[in-house]
Amino acid sequence: MRYEAVIGLEVHAQMLTETKIFCGCATKFGAGPNTQTCPVCIGMPGVLPVLNRRALEFAIRTGLATSCTIAQYSRFARKNYFYPDLPKGYQTSQFEHPICEHGFLEIDVDGETKKIGITRIHMEEDAGKNIHEDSGSYSYVDLNRAGVPLMEIVSEPDLRTPKEAAAYMRKLRAILRYLGVCDGNMDQGSLRCDANVSVRPAGQKELATRAEIKNINSFRFVEKAIEYEIRRQIKVVEDGGKVVQETRLWDSAKGITESMRSKEEAHDYRYFPEPDLVPIVPDRNWVEGIRASLPELPDAKKKRFVAEYGLPEQDASLLTEEQAVADWFEKAVSSGGQAKAVANWMMGDLTRLLNDEGRSIGECPLSPKQMAGMLSLIDQGTISGKIAKTVFEDMYRTGKDAAVIVKEKGLVQISDVSEIEKAVDELLARSQKEIERYRAGDEKLLGFFVGQVMKATRGKANPQTLNELLKKKLSS
Ligand code: ADP
Ligand code: MG
Ligand code: ZN
Repeated sequence: MRYEAVIGLEVHAQMLTETKIFCGCATKFGAGPNTQTCPVCIGMPGVLPVLNRRALEFAIRTGLATSCTIAQYSRFARKNYFYPDLPKGYQTSQFEHPICEHGFLEIDVDGETKKIGITRIHMEEDAGKNIHEDSGSYSYVDLNRAGVPLMEIVSEPDLRTPKEAAAYMRKLRAILRYLGVCDGNMDQGSLRCDANVSVRPAGQKELATRAEIKNINSFRFVEKAIEYEIRRQIKVVEDGGKVVQETRLWDSAKGITESMRSKEEAHDYRYFPEPDLVPIVPDRNWVEGIRASLPELPDAKKKRFVAEYGLPEQDASLLTEEQAVADWFEKAVSSGGQAKAVANWMMGDLTRLLNDEGRSIGECPLSPKQMAGMLSLIDQGTISGKIAKTVFEDMYRTGKDAAVIVKEKGLVQISDVSEIEKAVDELLARSQKEIERYRAGDEKLLGFFVGQVMKATRGKANPQTLNELLKKKLSS
């Protein structure tokens, strides 16, 4: 029997607003416990929440960027449950009338583009945080996070493999970051994901019973948790059992999912309309204004990079994942760098140097213009591609221009034929044995000769001239 997995993701994204969703408290991370709270967000009786206009704008921005319909009428609802980190006894969320619906985004997996439906995007508030003392005697509640604005982005069950799920998460994260509505930080919890997984016999139309996996907090775990869950469910079915609808927790240390609660124990949230907040009827001109202000998004930028700069798809994909990286690339090209050469240096040496120090492109010590300057030295034949590697690393460490480094270190390439010829002759004069072997057919030895001359000239001989000279002299 062959099986097909069906996956739908519910993603929570913390919105990058300065203040909370229904009060003026700061959302900044890392403040002392309960210092960013007020009667509204700790749920005192009699207070009245007021919707943060910026949070609404961010949700609409996200909806527009994912081709959603923006509701003409939207409202909040109370989701009732008891937990110590939820002082009001309900979470203010959206239920029947979410702000955005019926969108999609596109993912590229194994050379194919696939459309993944977005069922809805709704706004809600975050809860506080329970902190349990190591001794086990006390628990504390920090309500700084209570009332921080979240978006919940729910996908259609359109994903089929763990790889597709990870690609969806990556694309969504890239879009959120381009829009400036969420920092996309999974390890700090500003982007969280629950995965709904089921398996059905290949070819079957109806959806099978699903399990929902919570607690997935990294891209790697999105794939791992879903992979595990698919295998587990197939085994249950093959052993003659039935998958039960339940919530499961991903345990990253053990690499497994474990049952948390079954359908029977599931909450009945008794959603009802939030009476303290007026319904939202977004002004159409305002919405169109937000649409007009959307930046060029990753997919469009990628297509343009292929068309305008002639980059391979793969390069264009990598360079457009982060807006800052794409901007850096375009600046280097507009400063005179040849597009494919800039792309190669960025994806190769530059990425390696940045990664070594855990730096982002924004913290790159060398400018796009300096990169273009170095490339022009290669084009002009002043330095070889090999020497450029050292020069580049020096630029990165010192912040100096390539031309300055080349001058200071005397790295100018030797293109003068007579000078290279001198070095070649010196080498050949003391390499009788190697010459005989080469002439007898061991052509690999050309590399040896090139290496020796390069060593003698400290890597500065023009490689092309050197190769031509060697071949000529060895064959005569
Ligand atoms: P809930 O709010 O109870 O989690 P939803 O109907 O909102 O339920 O569905 C949540 C997610 O589960 C959506 O992303 C949806 O695509 C996905 N989903 C629904 N049914 C299935 C299924 N049978 N297999 C896999 N995913 C599913
Ligand atoms: Mg759910
Ligand atoms: Zn507050």
